[in-house]
Amino acid sequence: MTEAKLIDGKAAAATLQRRVGDGVAGLIGRGGPTPGLATVLVGADPASQVYVRSKARLAAELGMASFDFRLDEAIAEAELLAVIDELNGDERVHGILVQLPLPAHIDTTQILMAIDPAKDVDGFHPFNVGRLGTVAPRAPLDFPVPCTPLGVSMLLQDTLGKLAGCNAVVIGRSNLVGRPVAQLLLRADCTVTIAHSRTRDLAALGRTADILVVAIGRPELVRGDWIKPGATVIDVGINRVPAADGKTRLVGDVAFDEAVKVAGHVTPVPGGVGPMTVACLMFNTLQEARRASGLKFSAAD
Ligand code: NAP
Repeated sequence: MTEAKLIDGKAAAATLQRRVGDGVAGLIGRGGPTPGLATVLVGADPASQVYVRSKARLAAELGMASFDFRLDEAIAEAELLAVIDELNGDERVHGILVQLPLPAHIDTTQILMAIDPAKDVDGFHPFNVGRLGTVAPRAPLDFPVPCTPLGVSMLLQDTLGKLAGCNAVVIGRSNLVGRPVAQLLLRADCTVTIAHSRTRDLAALGRTADILVVAIGRPELVRGDWIKPGATVIDVGINRVPAADGKTRLVGDVAFDEAVKVAGHVTPVPGGVGPMTVACLMFNTLQEARRASGLKFSAAD
């Protein structure tokens, strides 16, 4: 039996980051603006601090300007809206990232809706969600798309080339991952089924999939016998579980050791989808800066 090939998300993310770094230099070289990413963190959650710091650091490494806003946990919603409003009007800022979750007293939807859709590098603004939901097959994505789903679709395209005609099953229907992944696969001419916690016989459905994307947040729920031999499996899940040595370890939503025996290609966890997410954030920021510049770019740039 041959083992599945690993889809190396770290290597793909490094390649995308190099492309973005070149793109930043190219934009500036043509007289365009230095792409600017503003990160907004409310409160002092340690995990969120790490995420925001790493995003700001990578932006700087790729030649972008980075604007870091650390706001008090108790900030009033009106004050946060005023910060967003200021960033919307700041020409140096092409991407605004508000780190989620926000404290309970703040209405997350109001905040996301306040971000200028042309600076919405997370792709969560209802205007951009609507654009993704109505984009024509194969039409260009000339608006920001959520980062993790974009990373998933890039990994699939790198692995399989054209996706047209593939049966794709997406398990998970969150606005963050499952739904936008499904929209991207539909745009790429896949035949898409979206499954969720009320779906009957997930295992049988899984076995119909040429492409199986799993984003559920349930450690190793998807077993080897849910997978069609030779299928491409993208495991978005990140779950921390107890390890044998009394510590913890990260596992995906797919039982990796079983999947490698059946699938044609599979993403590991960690090192699969995860690294693509932040690289796609940088890509989105560059794309918005390019659009703001009014210069013309080809799809290959
Ligand atoms: P979420 O908002 O909790 O959504 C989970 C989805 O999975 C829901 O649609 C839910 O169905 C479905 N589901 C839950 N249990 C199920 C089951 N037993 N069978 C079938 N479907 C089930 O989660 P999310 O934000 O999409 O994240 C999913 C996973 O991806 C998490 O592990 C998260 O940590 C990870 N993630 C990774 C990245 C990355 O960068 N790699 C980024 C984002 C998220 P219902 O709708 O019916 O409830």
